[in-house]
Amino acid sequence: MSTPNRKKRKSRKKQKQILHFLLLTALFFCLLLGILLILRHSFALETRTVQEFVVETETIPETESETIPETESETVPETTEEETLPPGMVSGITLSFYHVHLHEDDDPVMPRVFMEPEDAIDISEIWSSSDETVAIVDENGTITPENPGNCTICVTSAMNPAVSATVMVTVYPKEEALPVPEQICSPFSEEDNTRNDIQVIGGITYVQGVMLVNKTYSLPADYHPDGLTPETSEAFSALRHAASDEAGLRLFSESDFRSYRTQVYLYESYCNRDGKEAADRFSARPGHSEHQTGMVIDVNWAGDAFNDTEEAVWLEKNCWRFGFIVRFPREKEAFTGYKYESWHIRYVGEDWAKKIYDSGLCLEEYFHVSSRYS
Ligand SMILES: [Zn+2]
Repeated sequence: MSTPNRKKRKSRKKQKQILHFLLLTALFFCLLLGILLILRHSFALETRTVQEFVVETETIPETESETIPETESETVPETTEEETLPPGMVSGITLSFYHVHLHEDDDPVMPRVFMEPEDAIDISEIWSSSDETVAIVDENGTITPENPGNCTICVTSAMNPAVSATVMVTVYPKEEALPVPEQICSPFSEEDNTRNDIQVIGGITYVQGVMLVNKTYSLPADYHPDGLTPETSEAFSALRHAASDEAGLRLFSESDFRSYRTQVYLYESYCNRDGKEAADRFSARPGHSEHQTGMVIDVNWAGDAFNDTEEAVWLEKNCWRFGFIVRFPREKEAFTGYKYESWHIRYVGEDWAKKIYDSGLCLEEYFHVSSRYS
């Protein structure tokens, strides 16, 4: 059966089979290679996205660290309590008195409280005593003397705890006499009031262009700037930021503009309590209060406790740089008519403030004007 033709056919068939096998094998390897290539490509993509993500997370903190200080430095100087207070929020407290001398067996006293603005939404008060063995205070502000000594009674706005006012309380033993005010006398005569560098415009007196308000010179009852003047407000803002930046001190306005009407009430309350002579040493008669000018600020704490504090020392040395003077300096009561008030600053503009500060004189001495009730 095995003829040469059959043999030939057989070997050709075998060759065909080998060829098929080789082709299939080649195809298999091609497929395998293809799959490997696809897998490699997708892996490469994955690693790339991971790398990109890493790069992104690295760049985010950089941009943040660049932008945050900029926005901070832009916004911080603008944020002041006055500017950020929403309407109807309590912004200040004025009391009918800030000092009280009592015998330990005296009847309780109660200061009248004026919350500002007059249309504040919530005018609730929170009262506290720094030393309840000396004097206690109830929730209405009734101060009862307990034992001889000194303490402070503080009233805070329930709505805005940043706003408060303080009464300095001194309690004396039953038998001890209360302090009698010294006799005050300005060395400048009344003739000094009629000079050609003193002008009266619309009932307001100016000496060399500086508005003059003291015991001799008064403001008309209808003079009502309705708050601090823009120059005073701006200068005080600069002063506050400098105190904070240069010395880390927080200065704020405890009391600034006071209307004629408010002063009528304040002064009468003092007279009823301490007598006219004593009241004239620390409170101005209506029209004679510098607070009515809108150029005066009582800083932080309108009371003797503010004297000699770090804030008072900084204010005394630096307020002239911003156009303010400490209006009633130490040992100048004979000229100013008021005892030392480290907290009461008056805006006179930078030029005058520097001249007056450098002279070491108070305003009345510097301009040779009296401060005496007629
Ligand atoms: Zn004052």
